[in-house]
Amino acid sequence: MGYITQVDVRTRTVDRFGGIATPELLRELLEMAPSIRTRMEGRVNWHVNTTAVGGGVAEMLRQHVAYGRGGGIDVRWVVISGGPEFFRITKRLHHALHGAEGDGSPLGERERGVYEETLRQNAVELATRVRPRDIVLLHDPQTAGLAPHLLRSGALVLWRCHIGSDESNAETERGWQFLRPYLGDVPALIFTRKSYVPDFVEADRVAIIAPSIDAFSPKNWELDESAIRTVLVHTGLVEGPLPSDASYVFQRTDGTPGRIERQADVFRLGRPPSWDTPLVTQVSRWDPLKDPIGVMRGFARLVDGRETARAELVLAGPNVSGVADDPEGAEVFEQVVSAWRELPHSVRGRVHLATLPTADVEENAIIVNALQRHSKVIVQKSLKEGFGLTVTEGMWKGRPVVASGVGGIQDQIEDGKSGILLQDPTDAEEFAAALRRLLDDPDYAEQLGVAARERAVELYLDTRHLVLLGNLIEKIDI
Ligand code: UDP
Repeated sequence: MGYITQVDVRTRTVDRFGGIATPELLRELLEMAPSIRTRMEGRVNWHVNTTAVGGGVAEMLRQHVAYGRGGGIDVRWVVISGGPEFFRITKRLHHALHGAEGDGSPLGERERGVYEETLRQNAVELATRVRPRDIVLLHDPQTAGLAPHLLRSGALVLWRCHIGSDESNAETERGWQFLRPYLGDVPALIFTRKSYVPDFVEADRVAIIAPSIDAFSPKNWELDESAIRTVLVHTGLVEGPLPSDASYVFQRTDGTPGRIERQADVFRLGRPPSWDTPLVTQVSRWDPLKDPIGVMRGFARLVDGRETARAELVLAGPNVSGVADDPEGAEVFEQVVSAWRELPHSVRGRVHLATLPTADVEENAIIVNALQRHSKVIVQKSLKEGFGLTVTEGMWKGRPVVASGVGGIQDQIEDGKSGILLQDPTDAEEFAAALRRLLDDPDYAEQLGVAARERAVELYLDTRHLVLLGNLIEKIDI
């Protein structure tokens, strides 16, 4: 015993979306609630994953479980556990489904043995809680191997895969080959995009549901101009003076008070950008697939020879100094700094490499929130992307977004209408031209930002997400 942990989640009701979400969607959600409650009577809707904190899936689950409970459904969330070898194997599997080889290790019979044994132990314990007719939603490759055990005990099992790759290759094949034996009898499989569905899954078992952002979280809640300025000046991302003496004080999601205290660690020449300087910003982990160096080089073309262009670039990501658990991030950041040193002096003076404090997750989120809201243009020039939450976050904040037409970004932005999609993410000139267009034409930029906000409200808030999950529960045979 002791393999699984139930996560405590507070209750929320969807009423708080009044005035925020699309009224029709909110109505639809409220109208479907009684029939879902009836269907779920006497049953528990379980969510199972491998972590209660950190990462987008855990954040999303926290919201959905809270709204489900607030809607009168017995929704519970449990986290399973495993040893280091299990997590090494599932990380390898995660890379494979992205089409990457990760540490290049095999996914053979020995690995299958470790995977199955770990999940068997978790399943034994889960079986003491899950009853026949309960609905169990398993999340991601780590939990897929639970499906046969739970199905045998009479539960209704669904599996959701939050990752995927547009193109298949030897690695995606390897990953799906590993998972396939566990998924054969699962009646519904949920994917983020159609192109992420592996060949062996029949269309009638597939549901497509995109992720959503939490409009009420520190990352996305409203900030007025004074708050934005206070946060950015305080953290050193924008030059002072502070609009008032006060620091930014906030209420944490657990109800306790918080305050912005830490500063960003920034590589720059000279001073921070002034409050009036138009900022072009990319927020992302320090990962080659986010192409931070390509962003700088594209920006350099924009600046090149144009004394009048006043824009400055901020590349922001998590703090990497001394973080032992992300050696790759630290290495990539070093490479970005080296590339920055090679930029012509005139360009380098306008590029700020900011590593943001991460010790306090909510403080970090508020800094990202303020930076996104203050930016004239948000960019996400990824070479590959699963979904691209930074794009959603920028759209929700009414910012014009320039992003690569890859992965889920293609679903989010309608090119020229709710943002600009880059046809070729490696084309620095195309990128520079898109930035130029938005910076030179504020009306156009504004128009894209307004449409982006509308699209995010319509498609990427929890309201939409809950309606789609509700539809699925109504549709499946239970
Ligand atoms: N993020 C953050 N602080 C940082 C860098 C990134 O909070 O310093 C967040 C960002 O706001 C977004 C998430 O990390 O919510 C990244 O999600 P995305 O889907 O864009 O990319 P991933 O990192 O999952 O590849």
